Amino acid sequence: MRQPLVAGNWKMNGSLAGVRELLAGIKAGVDEVETAEVAVCPPFVYIPEAQAQLAGTAVAWGGQDLSVHESGAYTGEVAGSMLRDFDCKYVIIGHSERRTYHNESDELVAQKFTAAHKAGLVPIFCIGETLEERESGITEEVVARQVDAVIDHCGVETLGEGVIAYEPVWAIGTGKTATPEQAQEVHAFIRGRVAAKSPQVAEGLRILYGGSMKPGNAAELLAKPDIDGGLIGGASLDAGDFLAICKAANG
Ligand code: PEP
Repeated sequence: MRQPLVAGNWKMNGSLAGVRELLAGIKAGVDEVETAEVAVCPPFVYIPEAQAQLAGTAVAWGGQDLSVHESGAYTGEVAGSMLRDFDCKYVIIGHSERRTYHNESDELVAQKFTAAHKAGLVPIFCIGETLEERESGITEEVVARQVDAVIDHCGVETLGEGVIAYEPVWAIGTGKTATPEQAQEVHAFIRGRVAAKSPQVAEGLRILYGGSMKPGNAAELLAKPDIDGGLIGGASLDAGDFLAICKAANG
């Protein structure tokens, strides 16, 4: 049985005061979340604040990116070991905003997967097609290429120690959500792709949905058999909305 994971991607939002308030709100309501594991991924500089407030609670925390390098002259980058210093459990890798604005290739994302795994972090590995790719009928080809890049780089067993987040790019921050049927179809395809290498890994692999998930649509999405949680952007910036999504996994 796969435990659902609901993770908040705060992106580059917030202020110290706002982050304190958001963390306090999540902490205050997390006991009502029965089924899902809950995690938040604040901007790097607020991770120590997350650690200070969330240590000993049911909420895990993580980064939004990491360097492929372990240390050295890489100005502006943050190593996996540094995230571990602050007890991060997770790190998001390959988010479409990084693929688009920072030209991250499948190869680089695969290297980041390995770097995260080596550092003892659980990668939340984001994949998904653009609107143009969906309309051209190549959604499966795109997600297969993205998944295969990691399998080819570090093997299916290592992939299985991470989490996949299927995030159709056209649904991120747009208010347009994939229908539960559209999402389930791609999730089942992804699981099948992994199963072709290892049925056992595929069975245990958590595949989250991301893309305008909100309290109003979460329950229907999370009820699908291959949707094992959510990666939440906008709605994770409001403690009440975020917790409502987490609770939607209670069934
Ligand atoms: C995301 O950025 O990972 C995301 C899913 O964003 P949103 O929920 O705002 O669409």
